[in-house]
Amino acid sequence: MQVSVFVLVLFCLCLSVYGKNKHEGSIKHDDPMLNTETPNYKEYCVIGAGPGGLQIAYYLESSERDYIVFEKGHGAGTFYNKFPIHRKLISLNKVYTGKTNKEFNMRHDWNSLLSNDESLLMTKYSEEFFPPADVLVQYLNDYATKLNLKVQYNSTMHDILKRKDGLFQMWDQHNNAYTCKYVIVATGIAKPNHIDFPGSDLTVPYEDLTLDLKPYEGKNVWILGRGNSAYEVAQHIMGVTNFIAMMA
Ligand SMILES: Cc1cc2nc3c(=O)[nH]c(=O)nc-3n(C[C@H](O)[C@H](O)[C@H](O)COP(=O)(O)OP(=O)(O)OC[C@H]3O[C@@H](n4cnc5c(N)ncnc54)[C@H](O)[C@@H]3O)c2cc1C
Repeated sequence: MQVSVFVLVLFCLCLSVYGKNKHEGSIKHDDPMLNTETPNYKEYCVIGAGPGGLQIAYYLESSERDYIVFEKGHGAGTFYNKFPIHRKLISLNKVYTGKTNKEFNMRHDWNSLLSNDESLLMTKYSEEFFPPADVLVQYLNDYATKLNLKVQYNSTMHDILKRKDGLFQMWDQHNNAYTCKYVIVATGIAKPNHIDFPGSDLTVPYEDLTLDLKPYEGKNVWILGRGNSAYEVAQHIMGVTNFIAMMA
């Protein structure tokens, strides 16, 4: 009997605000502590145009702040271009609630961001209870465009440090420098959690799994983890597998 083993990876996501952190990495640029120039200055620099970064941008835009969002992808919501890999969201999109109370309805809409534009609700984009991930990507990009959020795409920021004068300085992949009074890091920090054990080299991490059902046919599959991505995979393959074991 052939046994296929798949390792699912756990991700942790976080959104943190850098206010007083001192840079501890190695900087390849000229010593910015001595720098008195303020290239490309913005009061607020947000890094990442996922749901977190866009929501912050909406409030910065509404209150007419001097801000910019840097996004490494060519559009908003880059994370959702790949994840969840089976392309169906696990967040509810309950279109019909039987109520007109907006607050109540928003509690049953786990995908929409807050804004004063009634057309920018995921319930207007899909009727599906678990919508396709691509619809969320479209929604997030419409959100950024329609609300005139200042997002600079294709900009991967690195080496954020605090200068002697209290400003933050960072660089994009082309080594263009930017200075900001406040930096809000909304990069998501989704990292695979690979576990080392004898035979772990034979496992396949979640992000590399094939969506093709053929390799799973008649197999016994062992899934490490019992979080969202584990159940997502189990649901996808259960129709063709012989047996699925989940371990956590
Ligand atoms: C496998 C998986 C499936 C999930 N499925 C769902 C789901 O169906 N529904 C749901 O509601 N939540 C889901 N989540 C949780 C969801 O990912 C997060 O809640 C949400 O994406 C967090 O938003 P964010 O804006 O903080 O980060 P992200 O969405 O990760 O956005 C971060 C952004 O920062 C950008 N970025 C990163 N580094 C840099 C840099 N150096 N410079 C510039 N830009 C940068 C990235 O390109 C990205 O666009 C899932 C999570 C995982 C791990």
